[in-house]
Amino acid sequence: MQDNSGDRRPSFETLKSLFEQLPGIAAGIATGKIGGKGLKQLPTKACKICGTGLEYKWQQKLEIGSLGEGLCESCAKQLNDGMVAVTDGQVYAFIRHPDLNAKSGQVMCVTTKTMMLLKAKMHEKKVEKNGHN
Ligand SMILES: [Zn+2]
Repeated sequence: MQDNSGDRRPSFETLKSLFEQLPGIAAGIATGKIGGKGLKQLPTKACKICGTGLEYKWQQKLEIGSLGEGLCESCAKQLNDGMVAVTDGQVYAFIRHPDLNAKSGQVMCVTTKTMMLLKAKMHEKKVEKNGHN
């Protein structure tokens, strides 16, 4: 009879299972799906309206200053539909208004105060349309 009470070594099955994972790990590192120690897959390019990451790279920390700008599929579609994107850098909205026809398909950067006024105006319209709060 074998006494394993003091044995803290991994079992043969555990070692065999880990060994079988090695080719997959090697392939993951080769294709870039698995990063190195302390690395995270962080965006290098983000949508300038909604902030969705568009391109990723294994990095230690997010390099905000070097973050490239682009447009995600969803935001590009709304701009192509003739909407105007309004953002204060924190919040964004897509609007369509006759006064903004010249800005159709563009991104407008506004102050936080303007964004709050716009939000209040949009809420007012929604209440008007639905007849309740
Ligand atoms: Zn977007």
